[in-house]
Amino acid sequence: MSDAGPRLKLNDGREIPQLGFGVFQIRPEETADAVAHALDTGYRAIDTAAAYRNEAGVAEGIARSGLAREDVFVTTKLWNSDQGRDHTRRAFERSLSRLGSDYVDLYLIHWPVPSRDLYAETWEVLCELHEDGQAHSIGVSNFQIDHLERIIDESGVVPAVNQIELHPRLAQPELRRFHDEHEILTEAWSPLGQGATLQEKVIEDIATARERSPAQIVLRWHLQLGNVVIPKSVTPSRIEENFRIFDFELEEEEMAAMGELDEGRRTGPDPATFAVA
Ligand code: NAD
Repeated sequence: MSDAGPRLKLNDGREIPQLGFGVFQIRPEETADAVAHALDTGYRAIDTAAAYRNEAGVAEGIARSGLAREDVFVTTKLWNSDQGRDHTRRAFERSLSRLGSDYVDLYLIHWPVPSRDLYAETWEVLCELHEDGQAHSIGVSNFQIDHLERIIDESGVVPAVNQIELHPRLAQPELRRFHDEHEILTEAWSPLGQGATLQEKVIEDIATARERSPAQIVLRWHLQLGNVVIPKSVTPSRIEENFRIFDFELEEEEMAAMGELDEGRRTGPDPATFAVA
């Protein structure tokens, strides 16, 4: 563990900070400020995507922080309309250019989009980008067990990460078990349920008893489950609050009480059908 918190091992031998900063829905013009503040606070991982239209802001935030590029773990994602052998490599090059870098730390397929049936050939291209050294690690996002099984069977390459919607109301036990069996790291998107989980009484009670905020309790729950987490905020005090989670531990009973909140309820789209281009 460093000042930036614990790092987890990926199945390709590299490491990822367990806590990162997500920039979905941060406006392009606000992104550099938010990223620079997160890096000043101590975060060393940023999660963006081509679809967020703020990769250039991420690059500017890193430059403004004064940190070296290699000190920040940058994840970006391939958008749905760029899937397929012809488009993937060009979309990757455009992301690199906006990020002002000649590599990314982690490149993900954003959604499987089963109706287009291109995710398996897209995965083959990510495997090539990894072999070329341009994507240090490769993974997927919003993949379900059948999608994971298919790409593993066809390519022989196990994704390092599957980034999925995961929070106390959607604990994804089955998918997490599959990840554990295959050495895929579970990365939680909307780790706070976009703020909605913070009003759960169980969480409020634990927060009050421990003199912590509900967000800190939820993020600590993720860390103890072994998830990578990427909370988002543009509010400087919340960016800092979400980072102060390494100096306490939830008891087994508290983890179990939070485990009872799982209702299998999504806040986001269903990966089996989501196909927005
Ligand atoms: P989140 O669970 O991180 O919630 C963010 C919201 O919670 C904020 O907008 C704010 O309203 C609130 N919040 C944050 N910190 C708080 C605090 N300390 N106290 C009170 N409220 C607080 O949701 P998210 O932004 O949807 O997800 C986080 C990141 O996950 C995104 O920025 C993005 O990087 C990633 N993501 C990925 C996908 C995907 O398909 N792969 C989808 C959605 C999000």
